Amino acid sequence: MTDKAASHPELSLIVCLYYEEECVEEFVAQVRAALKDQAITYEIVFVDDGSQDRTVPLVLEMAERDDRIKLIQLSRNHGKEAAITAGITYARGEHMIMMDPDLQDPPEAIMDFYRKAQEGYDLVFGVRKTREDSLSTRLFSKLFWTFLNRLTGLDIPENLSVMRIFNRQFASEFLKYAERLRFIEGIFMLVGMRRTSMAVAHHKRFAGVSKFNVKKRIALALKAITSFSDKPIHLAIGTGIWLLSISLGYGLWAVIRKVFFNVALTGWTSLFVSILFVGSIQIILLGIIGNYVGRIYSEVKARPVFTVFRAINIDPDEEFGDE
Ligand code: UDP
Ligand code: MG
Repeated sequence: MTDKAASHPELSLIVCLYYEEECVEEFVAQVRAALKDQAITYEIVFVDDGSQDRTVPLVLEMAERDDRIKLIQLSRNHGKEAAITAGITYARGEHMIMMDPDLQDPPEAIMDFYRKAQEGYDLVFGVRKTREDSLSTRLFSKLFWTFLNRLTGLDIPENLSVMRIFNRQFASEFLKYAERLRFIEGIFMLVGMRRTSMAVAHHKRFAGVSKFNVKKRIALALKAITSFSDKPIHLAIGTGIWLLSISLGYGLWAVIRKVFFNVALTGWTSLFVSILFVGSIQIILLGIIGNYVGRIYSEVKARPVFTVFRAINIDPDEEFGDE
């Protein structure tokens, strides 16, 4: 292998790890098997997102024996979006493939992705043919994408797979999106360029459990909406106008009844209900606005997206684009 090939392999696999001690070795074994007979140079860039189990020691062990296995260990749990960004920052490959280590994405598909990209695409994203997730996950996912696409106009396919390949040019454009609260799928769509999709199988998790519970998924949905759409703010204004028209109409009606027919409004119930109703709507709308203000707060602080604790088989000072 020449030096050039060693420092710039044809393919980088970017793989985030968060408590994946049960999967990581099997993942490497399957990747090795899938790429063994292929004339392609590759590296596996693992980004550890603060696992406290045996994930890191296992990767270190493998990295010692094989310098194509690299590790970026983040200083704590940063969330998957930050971890992916770290991986893209330090991967050296001409092409980069993103995939999860739980073997839900099949390593056999790596070469299919690579060949598809060679046809002249900057991004080839996988679309799941089938989906091996729990009913609640699938239901939530369906709701999430329908709602999100409506609000943002992004048109992201709902059965989007994590697995995708892109080239260095795409990666460097991706890294220019410097926002702190990162909704990766949205940024991928915004980068644009020549892109296509490819059907890919989706399997059950090899071992371990999903790290995303309903709470995390809802937080992601909120982040996605506030970073890609200002429609909720328009909704706030719309609701205000709508309520104003109703109350003006109702007020006018009450005045006419009093002046012309001398019938005064009676009833505490209606008063009570309407105060509660308008009050609740105000609180909800304040919450929506608060969400956007909170985002501005996070962005203005401009904290680093991730902090690297240590890097193995990789020079952390040599960032993306350095030749
Ligand atoms: N992950 C991460 N940081 C987190 C949570 C998850 O890097 O805070 C990684 C995790 O190691 C896995 C990937 O994100 O590689 C997908 O997670 P998981 O398989 O649990 O989610 P699912 O496939 O069920 O959506
Ligand atoms: Mg998974």
